[in-house]
Amino acid sequence: MPVNEQMVQDVVKEVMAKLQLAAGASAGKGVFADMNEAIAAAKKAQKYIHRMSMDQREQIITNIRRKTKENAEILARMGVEETGMGNVPHKILKHQLVAEKTPGTEDITTTAWSGDKGLTLIEMGPFGVIGAITPCTNPSETIICNTIGMLAGGNTVVFNPHPAAIKTSQYAVNMLNEASVEAGGPDNIACTVEKPTIDSSNIMMKHKDIQLIAATGGPGVVTAVLSSGRRGIGAGAGNPPALVDETADIRKAAQDIVNGCTFDNNLPCIAEKEIVAVDSVISELMHYMVTEQGCYLASKEEQDKLTETVLTPKGLNRKCVGRDARTLLKMIGVMVPDNIRCIVFEGEMEHPLIATELMMPILGVVRAKDFEDAVEKAVWLEHGNRHSAHIHSKNIDNITRYAKAIDTAILVKNAPSYAALGFGGEGFCTFTIASRTGEGLTSASTFTKRRRCVMSESLCIR
Ligand code: NAD
Repeated sequence: MPVNEQMVQDVVKEVMAKLQLAAGASAGKGVFADMNEAIAAAKKAQKYIHRMSMDQREQIITNIRRKTKENAEILARMGVEETGMGNVPHKILKHQLVAEKTPGTEDITTTAWSGDKGLTLIEMGPFGVIGAITPCTNPSETIICNTIGMLAGGNTVVFNPHPAAIKTSQYAVNMLNEASVEAGGPDNIACTVEKPTIDSSNIMMKHKDIQLIAATGGPGVVTAVLSSGRRGIGAGAGNPPALVDETADIRKAAQDIVNGCTFDNNLPCIAEKEIVAVDSVISELMHYMVTEQGCYLASKEEQDKLTETVLTPKGLNRKCVGRDARTLLKMIGVMVPDNIRCIVFEGEMEHPLIATELMMPILGVVRAKDFEDAVEKAVWLEHGNRHSAHIHSKNIDNITRYAKAIDTAILVKNAPSYAALGFGGEGFCTFTIASRTGEGLTSASTFTKRRRCVMSESLCIR
């Protein structure tokens, strides 16, 4: 086999990387003091990635999946320790899910037309370097998920992570670059800065080498990205209602809703944040939630204390977000047994603990006089985010009416919310759900631009 210069360079690179790793050096940290440096490094890496075959990209992704599984517990522990939010066993599951079900290069497909006039292809090409903003609620999960998809599309990525999750985010970035170098890819496929701030975010959003920004977070960041003048994918806030009608299996609905609501202490944006149930099923639903599903029924006085504690004049009390039910109850002086995992109460839809996206295992139940009223209340509670909603019903007409009225990117029927992420449900996994800008559940193809390649009068061989 003839040896060319590129092959020699590749072999030297691989040996150097192995030597570095063997010497205990931290290969490919990807963390820079300055955002401009981070973007320059990612740009250099992207040129390399773009020259690689799809098969080589897939080899890096395979190694990312392997390392994510190996590091799932470390990342889960780091995330909980650093942010104080969520719980370790559920975060381990989230990392395993990301590793196993985030689409890779198989998502990059080609559309072709061939006929008398020749052959035309639509191919998915990379944007180049993508700027990504990530939340503190799923910090490493989002970084790994975004990188797999963006890399499959031939891009590299620069992250401006949430300042409350810097260490966890940097660990994930470091791991991603190690995975690339180990698999024969370049360093700096994912980059970030030592101290992410709004300033570093602004530099990123205005940089000439950033053609696409993917923002995952609350309403503020999505608005900032959409005002940046760049193309933006906005994965914003939700307040998903779970509707229960009279045809539902009420015992199962209670179990599914509480399982979804308490997963990672209610941090996922898709998680059940409140229930709207028709009048005839409320007492049965409450009964199962309290007697079988570890729910604590909060009195009016306890609800008031909770409201004062978890909400401040400036918004959510960050010390309460992603905490478990027992901790929240302890904060208001209520001690409960170990099996308590959720706080429930009945209230009006305007109740602050119901209308606000809390990201805590607190489930207010809103009474509706009939299905029509339930749909109206659920639509109001979703606040037009068009993000996620859930329904427990065996009436197909009701499900269809609800789906049309609420018009969300995700609608889970008769299952916990996390089925939408491919956990106990079919379909792929993502941690960036772009409801506001319409891409929906993002995957590798979302991070590409469509290009038409036309060959006229030839290559049609029919
Ligand atoms: P957050 O909005 O506080 O922060 C998210 C990211 O945006 C962080 O990196 C933060 O530093 C940055 N940011 C915030 N305001 C900014 C601004 N004006 N300019 C530039 N950057 C800015 O959110 P969080 O607490 O980390 O995450 C929870 C929120 O994110 C919830 O509202 C949740 O619903 C939402 N979320 C949505 C998705 C989705 O896929 N749609 C996924 C996870 C979380």
